[in-house]
Amino acid sequence: MKKAYNFNAGPCVLPKEVIESTIEAIRNFDNTGIGLLEISHRTPGWERIMAETEQLWRDLLDIPQEYAVIFLGGGASTQFFEVPANFLNKKAAYLQTGVWAKKAIKEAKFYGEVEVVASSEDKTYSYIPKNYTIPTDADYFHITTNNTIYGTEIREDIDSPVTLIADMSSDIMSRKVDVRKYGMIYGGAQKNVGPAGVTFVIVRKDLLGKVNRPLQTMVDYRTHIGAEPKNNSMFNTPPVSAIFVMHETLKWLKNLGGVEVMNKINTQKSKLLYDEIDRNSLFVGTAAKEDRSIMNHCWVMAPGKEHLQDEFMAFAKERGMVGIKGHRSVGGFRASLYNACPVEAVEALVACMQDFEKLHK
Ligand SMILES: *Cc1c(COP(=O)(O)O)cnc(C)c1O
Repeated sequence: MKKAYNFNAGPCVLPKEVIESTIEAIRNFDNTGIGLLEISHRTPGWERIMAETEQLWRDLLDIPQEYAVIFLGGGASTQFFEVPANFLNKKAAYLQTGVWAKKAIKEAKFYGEVEVVASSEDKTYSYIPKNYTIPTDADYFHITTNNTIYGTEIREDIDSPVTLIADMSSDIMSRKVDVRKYGMIYGGAQKNVGPAGVTFVIVRKDLLGKVNRPLQTMVDYRTHIGAEPKNNSMFNTPPVSAIFVMHETLKWLKNLGGVEVMNKINTQKSKLLYDEIDRNSLFVGTAAKEDRSIMNHCWVMAPGKEHLQDEFMAFAKERGMVGIKGHRSVGGFRASLYNACPVEAVEALVACMQDFEKLHK
């Protein structure tokens, strides 16, 4: 097979072991003689996978019992309207740090008043706004912890006077999170914990059922929580194969030592790349240094070197770099170093940038 270093922003690179065990399960799930893609979600072996997956989430993020952990379809984008449907009575507050946040704001407006407390749209979302005030009369405050397109990140758990809700699609499980500071955490699995097709929702149960509007059955989170301990996320057919891959990915993460070990590895990988972006005379980073994401790294050609952009892209492609084209709104390059991205891939990218510089000295 062709050597390829996968830096795609999502769906993301997955651990080799996960791919192997999934192939085996597709052939023969849990020794049933039936493959993963064909089993019933009521198979006893499947109920065990569901329970284990939930437990892995709880162990890895230290999620307290008063929170439910559920797995849904529809992607993070569906949560953009399910969040306000379940939580917005009168007013919600949002921090606008990128296009994903903006899309979440658009959906919230269908349900009530939205106050955008701050936005970094003026500088193409290249920084995280500071010194904003969270209104205490808001039903909740919504943030996007990692801005996948622009490479900025809120890497600390912030204090909020009202229920804090976070889209953690692209940095979940990259660090330790104090779950108790949040009313809800959600995201698509395909950036850091699995393949496309499953969405995780971690929600404090006592916050539900407080809105005045009637909710459709599927939209009401309580439907998916169900009676303890069974029935979790099994109101309708869950995305079985995507949840299985997530299960394998979380098992891999746990065996590696969990999120704190992962955070150390991620920090090292990230530093390797940022150091090269800052050192290399041909490139400059686009995100404010203090807000740089350790998941998504964005850079462009240095002033006066813009004409080399296509040449570097071709050079990198030739060396096996995949998925480093920047999002069209930022331009240049983006390398996503999610959990499963090996350090060798980062080293290969750095060597590629160094060799390209030598050609143009
Ligand atoms: C990718 C992404 C989304 C959209 O996720 P879908 O599962 O495709 O709907 C939302 N928020 C963030 C931060 C993302 O990176």
